[in-house]
Amino acid sequence: MGAMSESGVFTVSLDFEFYWGVHDKRTLASFKPSLGNIRSVIEETLALFEQYEVHATWATVGFLFSANPDELRESLPQIRPRYAHQEYSPYDYVAQLKDPNDNEFLFAKNLIKKIAETPNQEIATHTMSHLYLLEDGVEPDDVHADLSAAIQVAAESGIKITSIVFPRNQFSEEGLEICKSLGINCYRGNQSFFAYNSLDNAAYNNPIRKLTRLLDCYVNLSGSNTYSLQPENNEMLNVPASFFLRPYSKKLQFLEGFRSRRLKSAMTKAAKKKEIFHLWWHPHNFGLNSQKNLQFLEGILKHYRALSMKHGMASRTMSELSSNYTGGVS
Ligand SMILES: [Zn+2]
Repeated sequence: MGAMSESGVFTVSLDFEFYWGVHDKRTLASFKPSLGNIRSVIEETLALFEQYEVHATWATVGFLFSANPDELRESLPQIRPRYAHQEYSPYDYVAQLKDPNDNEFLFAKNLIKKIAETPNQEIATHTMSHLYLLEDGVEPDDVHADLSAAIQVAAESGIKITSIVFPRNQFSEEGLEICKSLGINCYRGNQSFFAYNSLDNAAYNNPIRKLTRLLDCYVNLSGSNTYSLQPENNEMLNVPASFFLRPYSKKLQFLEGFRSRRLKSAMTKAAKKKEIFHLWWHPHNFGLNSQKNLQFLEGILKHYRALSMKHGMASRTMSELSSNYTGGVS
């Protein structure tokens, strides 16, 4: 039965991945500008979350739980994804890592600890290796081995994983079943509009879909994307994304007012209709134009606090939503 919430809910999830999210598309050297100040960006983001009482889910790539390449190589799964397109696999790259100066762009052991110790923050998984579940060649055994390794490295840091965000939002019923068998009970699904469908990289990045997703951040193409939680057959709770928090763009800065209004009006709708509004981004999206991006985020969080005062909107992590939900229906 649809778990009607008693109030609107503001949910935030962050895909926390450093270089592992783009290793198939960019060189580390070309990505360093986005990661140069990532630690201070994350600290400032955490400070804003504390100030505005935001509960957030940090979907963290398992590789980040190590402190250096040797530690990482100790924690790798035995079975590796058998991608038809080898460039999707980070394992050859892992095997040759040696420059200790690169560690700060590849590992985040202490930072994860800091996030986990901040009030109301959940550490979730973004798979061990930034695994693409829908790419050719990836077998159920590969998925199981990858997720088991991710759960294991987190457990070694004293963290229990119960939520997942799938890399490039690629997932299948089979993948969800594997998650469930490993004790993961909540995932971030996609917006229902066609441009956000779960597809392999080539189909997802078709130019029409890409342009539609870009425009949708500024003008209302896909609607408000707010919703009530619905039970699913596999008993995994789907907490779909409402919006990607697209970073500030100098070229499109004249549209910033549209971007802000689009998000705020969807949030207001969620608050009034007691629905969920789920915003997501990557911490490295704030790596360039950091102050502009943090200011924009603060505007969104202020709006959330106003809706919280006026309509009782509450902020919840994905795991808080799933424990309320399973508590509510059983
Ligand atoms: Zn990712």
